[in-house]
Amino acid sequence: MKIVIAEFSLVVLIGPSGCGKSSFARRHFLATEIVSSDGCRALVCDDESNQRASADGFELLNFIANKRLARGRLTVIDATSVQKRARRELLELARTHGCPAVAIVFDLPQELCVARDAARVGRNVGPEIVQKQRLHLDQALGELADEGFEQVVVLTTAEQVDAASIER
Ligand code: ATP
Ligand code: MG
Repeated sequence: MKIVIAEFSLVVLIGPSGCGKSSFARRHFLATEIVSSDGCRALVCDDESNQRASADGFELLNFIANKRLARGRLTVIDATSVQKRARRELLELARTHGCPAVAIVFDLPQELCVARDAARVGRNVGPEIVQKQRLHLDQALGELADEGFEQVVVLTTAEQVDAASIER
């Protein structure tokens, strides 16, 4: 699938842990275009999985995204964004800077996300958290169309994810 996005847009990757957001981002975007919640947590406490650093991490994520968008730079948000509250904040940023927000949703089988998370070296969130995020994603799938994204792309198989390309 070819995903066509504006040169200046806010791309929001949406999906549970293990679905492959960070891998997808690395494959399709410049490292400097990607702002990740894990990366921002690590920047404030040296531990990307420290949930106690989440508030500071997200504050930093928003700060960086805001600075980039103010310069008209395409920005990719690499966080689960399965909760409406998180997406609302990002949509507000896009609105402020007058750029379209594009949602790329990783609606992959839960077992795949759990297996990929378990096989990952370094950081594992565990099946319970993946399942909880999956429930949030199910809710999100019913709401995304009306939230203000200019485009909502839903990828439902690993093959679709691997075949996806981004055209600016
Ligand atoms: P988190 O929300 O926890 O950061 P994530 O969505 O960023 O998770 P990744 O870290 O990108 O997920 O991927 C999870 C694991 O799955 C990694 O070990 C990665 O190598 C593997 N993986 C990701 N995408 C693919 C793919 N397209 N094909 C095969 N393996 C993949
Ligand atoms: Mg990731």
